[in-house]
Amino acid sequence: MSPFRILSLVALLWLAFTVPSRADAPQVAAPPVVAPRVVASVKPVHSLAASLMQGVGQPKLLVDGTASPHSFSLKPSDAEALSHADIVFWMGPTLEPFLVKPLASLARGAHIVTLIEAPGLRPLALRGAGAWMDGDGAPADGHAHLVPAVAGGAADAQIDGHAWLDPTNAKAMARAMADALIQRDPANAGRYRDNLANLLRALDALDAEIGAILAPISAKPFVVFHDAFHYLEARYRLDGVGAITLNPEVRPGAARLSQLRARIQASGAACVFAEPQFETALIGTLVDGTQAKRGVLDPEGALLPPGPELYAALMRANAQALAGCLGG
Ligand SMILES: [Zn+2]
Repeated sequence: MSPFRILSLVALLWLAFTVPSRADAPQVAAPPVVAPRVVASVKPVHSLAASLMQGVGQPKLLVDGTASPHSFSLKPSDAEALSHADIVFWMGPTLEPFLVKPLASLARGAHIVTLIEAPGLRPLALRGAGAWMDGDGAPADGHAHLVPAVAGGAADAQIDGHAWLDPTNAKAMARAMADALIQRDPANAGRYRDNLANLLRALDALDAEIGAILAPISAKPFVVFHDAFHYLEARYRLDGVGAITLNPEVRPGAARLSQLRARIQASGAACVFAEPQFETALIGTLVDGTQAKRGVLDPEGALLPPGPELYAALMRANAQALAGCLGG
C-alpha cells in the first residue's frame, strides 16, 4: 500500500471516530468519500468509464487532446497517476503499446482490465498487409499496430484494438468495467449497476441510430487513412476497400503515392477519409485526378472533449461523415 493510501485511510478512520453522531440523524452508514482512482487509456474507453462512474468520481485520461495511442509516450503526471491507480482500463497491447511496460511496473498494484478480452466482446484480427492496401510488400515492422508480442503473447498482437467502433463491443466493455468497479468499490455497487443499465440502454439506441444512418451507403466503397474501422465496417456491413498507411506516423513516398492513386481509381472508392490528427494535405494529393471525394473520420475522438458524452458523439460524427461523403 502506498504511503498516500495509508494516509487517506488514517484520515478516514480519524473522521469516523471523531465526527460526533447526531442523535436525531438516521443511523445510516454514509457512502465512502474516496472514489476509486481509475485511469483510462484512450478517449472512448475513458468515456464509458466516466458514464459508469457518474455520481461517484471521475476517471483520469491518458491519451488526451489529439494525441494518437499508436505513438503516445507517458508524461510524468501520467506515470504518477498509474502508480496510484486502483483500476486501469485499456484495450490491449496492439492499440496502446506505450502501456505494456508501465502496466507491468508502475501499475503493479492496480486491477488492470484488458478490454479486448472482455467477455462477450467479438475481437477481429488485424488485416494483414497482403489483403489490405500496402501493395509494396514491405514488411509491416514499422507499423505501430503490429507491436512485438511483449506482454500478451503472439495471439494478442494479432488482434485489432479499435473494438469500441462496434457498439455491441462497447456494451461488453462496459459490463467488464462495471464488474471491476463493483469489485473494487462495493459500497457504490448500486450506483455502478444503475449507471451500467442506463449506459447499455443508451448503447442499444445508439446502435440502432447509427445503423439507420449507415444503411443507405453500405455498398459504397471508400478508403480510410489508417486501418481503424474494421469493427465499424463489420457491424454495419460497410465497404472499406483500403487504408492509406499502416503506420500513421510515416508519410508515404512519391512512388507509393502514385501507386495508391492508381488503386483508389481502380477500387472505385467514392471517398477517401483523412483523420484530424494526421496530415490532411496528403489526402488532397491522393484524390487529385481520381473520382474520390474527401472526408474526415475521427476513430479515437481526437477533436471531441473527453467525458461521458464523447462515445455517442464519436459514433454519430463518424456515421454522419461517412453518410455525408458517400451519400452525396
Ligand atoms: Zn488507430
